[in-house]
Amino acid sequence: MQIECPSCRAGFEVPKRMLRDRTRPLRCSQCQTVFPMPDPPAPEPMTWQEPEPPPPPAAAPPPPAWAVEEPGPEPLVAQESSEAANDASSRGLRAAWAASIVLLIVGGLAAIIKREALVEAWPPATRLFSALGLM
Ligand SMILES: [Zn+2]
Repeated sequence: MQIECPSCRAGFEVPKRMLRDRTRPLRCSQCQTVFPMPDPPAPEPMTWQEPEPPPPPAAAPPPPAWAVEEPGPEPLVAQESSEAANDASSRGLRAAWAASIVLLIVGGLAAIIKREALVEAWPPATRLFSALGLM
């Protein structure tokens, strides 16, 4: 610890272990002045202050484990092409359904129109036509 003589202003380096014994006065080696042990810790001089530990670095918090990256915009070309494909396939599906329905109606009409010939060829059809109220 740096201690200054109150009389001649001479500075002395006093070991800390000596400072523990506050009952013993100090004698200046320059002017032989005896003075009491100063109160440690003095805020001055700065040389006796312990260097403050550096503050811990502000580490960025780790991202949560469940964080999912924002999905980027989907490529427009792929979207358009897939939509076009869906459109084409749905158009084809609708056409197939329409064809099936038309065939069903035409077949039914043909069966009704030609029911007498059908009943002759296939007698059980009589019950079907009776159920439909057509005979
Ligand atoms: Zn002195």
